[in-house]
Amino acid sequence: MAAVKACSVLITGANRGLGLEMVKQLSEVPCPKRQIFACCRDPDGPKSEKLRELAEKHPGIITIVCLDVGDPCSIKESAKKVSSLLGKNGLNLLVNNAGVLTHGTMQSTTDQEMRDAFNTNLMGPFTVTKEYLPYLRAAAKASARSGMSCDKAAIINISAGLGSMTQMLSLYSHFSTFSYSVSKTGLNMLTVYTAIELKQDEILCVSIHPGWVKSDMGGDKAPLESRDSVADILQVISSLTEKQHGGFLDNTGKTLPW
Ligand code: NDP
Repeated sequence: MAAVKACSVLITGANRGLGLEMVKQLSEVPCPKRQIFACCRDPDGPKSEKLRELAEKHPGIITIVCLDVGDPCSIKESAKKVSSLLGKNGLNLLVNNAGVLTHGTMQSTTDQEMRDAFNTNLMGPFTVTKEYLPYLRAAAKASARSGMSCDKAAIINISAGLGSMTQMLSLYSHFSTFSYSVSKTGLNMLTVYTAIELKQDEILCVSIHPGWVKSDMGGDKAPLESRDSVADILQVISSLTEKQHGGFLDNTGKTLPW
């Protein structure tokens, strides 16, 4: 099985759910010089206890970084810390994973719920990507590899099937996730445009739907365990090339309709 060999990886929303599982699985794969920046908005709080335990098990590999993706100042502060620890080879892999979900239809969703969804699910990846772009560029330049790969320089936006306009045309009446779906559709457009802009830098950019996964967000009825979804995602990530650049894939590597 292929493994992600990126030396430096930054993951947002890493204190629970899929983000925490990603940190766990990446830290278990032997990879020389691996640095994992596990970002969360409250590193010392009770919701980050499991991440702190994991970081203690892997000293020198996992660094916990305070990062609230909805707060531009916090994003800037996080980049100061991360850049002081990154070598001249930059940041290989950025995973925009943090997300929020509120249920509601267009008519029941409040302005605040809409703003919160956009702030976390769309503005978050936008601002984080812009802030970390110099370090991704440095990684792309420092790499001796030709073409695109996640081990060289890549942005993975964790999107959702609920953001697929084609799929939701027939499914919306079953899933009233108005603010979430609209924000994830926006995230997919962010992926497409970012991919076009960063093609010349050879920075890969892809949206990935993790499947319906058991987590605080996915709930207990979800068919997939987070360990299986993350194992799938890491497998898909490790095999990405310029062929998938700007694409929308699920955890099995299948292309999803926009
Ligand atoms: P969880 O609700 O379990 O975890 C969400 C994570 O995002 C938490 O770590 C949370 O941190 C973090 N987060 C939320 N807001 C912010 C913020 N402003 N700044 C920093 N971190 C924040 O969700 P999942 O792990 O299930 O979801 C991870 C990603 O996968 C999301 O983008 C989601 O949309 C996507 N996804 C999940 C699916 C599923 O079935 N689970 C299906 C499709 C997509 P905190 O503890 O501080 O709240």
